[in-house]
Amino acid sequence: MKITDIKTTLLSFPIPKEKRWRTDLGVATKADNCLIHVETDTGISGLGVGYGNPEVVKSIVETQLKPSLLGEDPLYVEGLWEKMYSGSRGIPSLNKGVSQPIFSRRGDTLCAIAGVDIALWDILGKSLEKPIYHILGASRNKVRAYASGGWAPGGEAGKEMASYVAKGFAAVKMRAEGIDGFSFSKLQTRVESARNEIGPDVELMIDAHGSFDVSTAKRVARILENFNVAWFEEPVSYDDHIGQSEVRAATTVPISSGESESTRFEVLDLLKNRAIDIIQPDVAMSGGITESRRIAAIAAVHGVRYAPHVWGSGVTFAASTHLAMHAPNCFIFEVSQSNSPLNWELFKEPFEIKDGYVYAVDRPGLGFTLREGLEEKYPFQQGPSYIY
Ligand SMILES: [Mg+2]
Repeated sequence: MKITDIKTTLLSFPIPKEKRWRTDLGVATKADNCLIHVETDTGISGLGVGYGNPEVVKSIVETQLKPSLLGEDPLYVEGLWEKMYSGSRGIPSLNKGVSQPIFSRRGDTLCAIAGVDIALWDILGKSLEKPIYHILGASRNKVRAYASGGWAPGGEAGKEMASYVAKGFAAVKMRAEGIDGFSFSKLQTRVESARNEIGPDVELMIDAHGSFDVSTAKRVARILENFNVAWFEEPVSYDDHIGQSEVRAATTVPISSGESESTRFEVLDLLKNRAIDIIQPDVAMSGGITESRRIAAIAAVHGVRYAPHVWGSGVTFAASTHLAMHAPNCFIFEVSQSNSPLNWELFKEPFEIKDGYVYAVDRPGLGFTLREGLEEKYPFQQGPSYIY
């Protein structure tokens, strides 16, 4: 089998002005996807998605990755990952058994590699007529899910979280900074409201998107300890692994992060610094299915559990499902409460989410078929997806 072409599709979902709101990430104006399509001489094609800046990812795929992959056998997924990561030194790196990565080896480059890698796994699964998680090695066929949202201000936070529980979720996540902004007392009010409304037995998690300094994060963690919080996510900047380990050492609340990390090498630094209890790589950002699998495995060696970051694209959801069914140390799966159609309307087939669980899909490859007419329905719009 040979790769004959690699194409990209850019999509945007603009958020209507009246539905935009401010959080610590800024005001979200739109959601974007850079879909990646790998075509072969057998008629089998694969689908992936790269997070990051969609126009930059598209350019990296088309100008850097595609020329090196045309004519290659797509079934050699590990070797092709190494070729993408090491560029012109891909062949010597495999011959010597030592990675010799290209200079721009993080960020949007890894998002582009991730998208191609997901598409290669889709082709591998389709050609073997097996779902990806069975090729990886299956651990389970369903995984507990959590509802991820929680932006409501003040005492409304409780009602918002209870609405997720009413959908069948027994675990829910809210943002540390709601649309009413952050102060210690606002946080206390929102978390107390959530705990009161959902009761003592539903798991409650808090996400700070790396927006606090170490001392603020320690004070936040002290508040969270009063409400039986299951994890405190990205308490400090993802550049500050040592600071995060200080926060972790100062609290009994489990610390999670990883959605902003590229590659197992960055995750290894988190692990060596004893900075996490739960690792959360994003398959479309950390380097694809190949790299997420490695990350889950090295995390397990350190006694760290795996909870994939799942956001922004139905392709991310589909790929992450296979990783969750595979990795023994996966214990929970993120289900976005954002209503972006790029999460929920890309495919002809529905996702199986019921009674608080996400179920495996037993169709070959990723197991999903894109709907027709996506580019007409969700035409790409230039510009930032968040503004201050
Ligand atoms: Mg997060």
